[in-house]
Amino acid sequence: VLTTRTPFIAGNWKMNLDHLQAVAFVQKLHWTLKDAKHESDSVEVGLFPPFTDLRTVQTLLDADKIPFALGAQDLSTKDSGAYTGEVSGQFLAKLDAKYVIIGHSERREYHAESDEVVAAKVQAALRHGLVPVICVGETAADLEEFGASAVPVGQLEVALEGVPADADIVVAYEPVWAIGSGQAATPEQAQEVCAKLREVVASKLGADAAARTRVLYGGSVKSSNIASFMREPDVDGALVGGASLVADEFAAIIRFQK
Ligand code: PGA
Repeated sequence: VLTTRTPFIAGNWKMNLDHLQAVAFVQKLHWTLKDAKHESDSVEVGLFPPFTDLRTVQTLLDADKIPFALGAQDLSTKDSGAYTGEVSGQFLAKLDAKYVIIGHSERREYHAESDEVVAAKVQAALRHGLVPVICVGETAADLEEFGASAVPVGQLEVALEGVPADADIVVAYEPVWAIGSGQAATPEQAQEVCAKLREVVASKLGADAAARTRVLYGGSVKSSNIASFMREPDVDGALVGGASLVADEFAAIIRFQK
């Protein structure tokens, strides 16, 4: 069973950086990483800009041979048609997007995305060869009522319904109370839930998939705490929001040393 998983550091820009700011940011990040000693070969870097930036960032990565993976923050459950305002996975695939974030807590909360909608989006991503980054996590109220793992485990079980055993997926554990709060989970808390989520992957998709699938932690990740998370055996990377918007800080996260 394969147990080496390439660490994945993913920057979720949310609704920040327009396409002009994106160019400056990506160039700065690239040069910061190029100049310094880093582990670019052993860490995969993913950028998740707003839809309106994707074409620009894709062109820049391609022209300057910058080895960052591109992803979107959401996609439609549908492939095409009369769905005003929606963006299809096939359009994202055409832009060389490799990844798509699905079920981020901000989508669940502000757009009432249910577990069933999240599952339909996972299917839509897989139909177009995109790797879904499936986000799960408990709110502060959930934590008090059910403990840390029950809600994320339940969310992931629904999201993986009908996913084939050989599918390429990423799971992100993001406790809602830790997102943007400055109050990250402890490495031990993250490890405990990430290990449980890996068990869900094992029970739904099998042992090989569980060994191969990257499980990320997200929620107030910074350069000062990334190493402590990466030392945990079931944490394979991070989904970074606020700290992914500052090139020096995001570069320092990418260059984490265990
Ligand atoms: P944060 O956001 O790093 O700003 O806490 C993480 C996320 O929402 O993906």
